Amino acid sequence: MERLTLLRKQLQEANREAILVSNPVNVAYLSGFTGTAGTLLLTAQQAYLLTDFRYVEQAQQQAPAFEIIDIKNKPWQVTAELLADNGCRALTVEADYLTVDTYQEIVAALEAVSVEAAASPVTPLRAVKTADEIKAIEKAQQLTDAAFKQILAYVKPGVRERDLALELEFMLRKGGAAALSFTMIVASGSRSALPHGVASDKTLAVGDAVVFDFGCIVDGYCSDMTRTVFVGEASDKQREVYDIVLAAQEAALANLRAGISGKEGDAFAREVIAAAGYGDYFGHGLGHGVGREIHEAPRLSPTYEGLLEPGMVVTVEPGIYLPGEFGVRIEDMAVIEEQGIRNLTAASKELYCF
Ligand code: ZN
Ligand code: ZN
Repeated sequence: MERLTLLRKQLQEANREAILVSNPVNVAYLSGFTGTAGTLLLTAQQAYLLTDFRYVEQAQQQAPAFEIIDIKNKPWQVTAELLADNGCRALTVEADYLTVDTYQEIVAALEAVSVEAAASPVTPLRAVKTADEIKAIEKAQQLTDAAFKQILAYVKPGVRERDLALELEFMLRKGGAAALSFTMIVASGSRSALPHGVASDKTLAVGDAVVFDFGCIVDGYCSDMTRTVFVGEASDKQREVYDIVLAAQEAALANLRAGISGKEGDAFAREVIAAAGYGDYFGHGLGHGVGREIHEAPRLSPTYEGLLEPGMVVTVEPGIYLPGEFGVRIEDMAVIEEQGIRNLTAASKELYCF
């Protein structure tokens, strides 16, 4: 209920009378309802969950704080009636989720109500995690750490990237993960310079860097980690780049804390990489929030001015990508605390050669 109270407080501060929450991730976060067809309508006094007959019973069980309404194929008419019952003349909808079509349908159907499309006010709430949410993320990361440790035994010349990805997925699912957080990245040799090289038919060869970037979902929450290992031996240049990326990550982990902006957080790592002469080869932000979704607020990037708050969970993932040669990325997940961070990732960052 805490979440609804916080959301209502926000609505009140922004002078909003009612909000329609359509993004299923936000619906589940606020209500507990996990069906694929459900919309929340929240006013100062009332909390409704609009769904269809397939989900009425499930909604009653999962979302006891909400009054369950069967929309009977007329979602916007029902919405208009509920708003009228509550004396609401204005409705906020999620601009960052609704399609243009749906938005226009709503505007047309709610003649007497002014419809405001705005960035979802649920996003900043989700960015700050409760102890239970952090526990779920930790559980997912523990499985991910364990899978990484096991997969190292499979890294050798001649093995396909695809087979490594499959083994990892099996280990995670066997360990209790509901699903992967995202399509796994296993990228070797010159493919490791592709920041998002999903596993291919390529086989590992001596001298390859291999980037593993993967995670899984436990209790509805995602994990995310990256490690880079080498096949046979690492060249001097590979070792140099690996050490710079690791130093950049360590600088960020040592300095991140509540109260600084995402931009300042990003700079801790970016400065190390730039000072080493590889600034042009770190083309993405340092990190992103992780929770119910693999990428959510906040961001650690040169353009993100938002402030970090205690309880936010962010990835810290500097990388250097040398096109046609190789790439190195190292990624941990950290909880932001008042004075620093708590690292949720335990997997070794030793430079492994197999
Ligand atoms: Zn990742
Ligand atoms: Zn990530």
